[in-house]
Amino acid sequence: MEPILLRARGETNSRSISTYLRLGGYGALKKAFIMDPAAIREEVKNSGLRGRGGAGFPAGVKWGFVPQDSPKPKYLICNADESEPGTFKDREIIHVDPHMLIEGIIIASYAISANTAYIYIRGEFVEEARILEQAIAEAYKKKYLGKNILTTGYDLDLYVHRGAGAYICGEETALIESIEGKRGLPRLKPPFPAVVGVFGCPTVVNNVETLACVPHIIERGAAWFASIGRPRNTGPKLFCVSGHVNRPGVYELPLGVTFREIIEEHCGGMRDGKALKAFIPGGSSAPVLPADKVDTAADFDAVAEAGSMLGSGGLIVMDETVDMVWALENLLTFYAHESCGQCTPCREGSDWALDVVRRIRRGHGRPEDIETLQRIARYASQGMTICPLGDAFCGPITSFLNHFGHEFEAYIEAATPAPRKKLPILPVRSGRGTFGL
Ligand code: SF4
Repeated sequence: MEPILLRARGETNSRSISTYLRLGGYGALKKAFIMDPAAIREEVKNSGLRGRGGAGFPAGVKWGFVPQDSPKPKYLICNADESEPGTFKDREIIHVDPHMLIEGIIIASYAISANTAYIYIRGEFVEEARILEQAIAEAYKKKYLGKNILTTGYDLDLYVHRGAGAYICGEETALIESIEGKRGLPRLKPPFPAVVGVFGCPTVVNNVETLACVPHIIERGAAWFASIGRPRNTGPKLFCVSGHVNRPGVYELPLGVTFREIIEEHCGGMRDGKALKAFIPGGSSAPVLPADKVDTAADFDAVAEAGSMLGSGGLIVMDETVDMVWALENLLTFYAHESCGQCTPCREGSDWALDVVRRIRRGHGRPEDIETLQRIARYASQGMTICPLGDAFCGPITSFLNHFGHEFEAYIEAATPAPRKKLPILPVRSGRGTFGL
């Protein structure tokens, strides 16, 4: 497949507006401005573009939820809070081709009748925020942003809003709270942001990669986009591959390529000739899959059928040397730290699960520990919490136990009781002298 989202990779000065214009950039915007906003929404819907941030919800359908008859202003937010461990594709787009993202934002804003848009970017992306600010300044200068864009009468202001480093702000309602200047705590849904979003107004939140696809759909048509990939899973996808492969990195491939092809052909196979043990197909919150699922097609539906999710396309590859108890402890350490604390099952459950797995790995597991972990996963997932972070830490627990439960059992069988903690003897002063307590 010809590179689409990463077509500017390798170009000198690929981030500048002059390079983007030389490659035909902002042509889709001119085409979009002679279309009706409803026709743009329909075109994106027909392309089958599904959100690339994790949920895989059809983008055109999401845009259609914005009530066009509402007198309130509408907003578009680009979610660039890429914080899921194993995911690093959005920053690649920003690094290589920020104007492609900006053009996608302008078209999407026009399609939903928004006059203000934000790029919410994670706090740690200092360099990426600077790149975006510079690209936005160039776009204002060339009249692709601001008042009366290209003399069409359409106005759009675009702002970069930097987060403060909380993973949970990647969740769309927490992100909205954060833009409003509040602590980034997820909101209960409904109402959904398309109706009540930022500042109480209709808002669409789309991922960077999703918006970067939009100019190509408008320029080359929905049918062209839908011809890439498989039915219901259309278009190019960025796969970010990390772990035990020879060539980790970001690869642009059609949806539906198999994980074997990604690992063996594009990533140069397993590192040091070791065997594949397991892989996480869609960022750290996606359930782990064992090596025998490597021929699964990397698309939303096939991965769901295999028992996991494509999520963000962050493929984490683990070889035969990986201790799966250690791997789960590692993931849970992250989620326990990132729980915002609003819901008891997530706040307490994530810490509790981490304590149990840590105890098992340190050689002091108890026979009831596996049942305890399963119980935590049952009570903190599937709608028991305000946002999907409950599922995000429970999916790994369940899948690691399902596929690699024997490794947890082996640890527990070899366990020794944890040494009892000696309470410190504190000196107590009284009128009759000092003694230990
Ligand atoms: Fe916060 Fe966790 Fe509840 Fe999400 S599930 S709102 S992160 S406590």
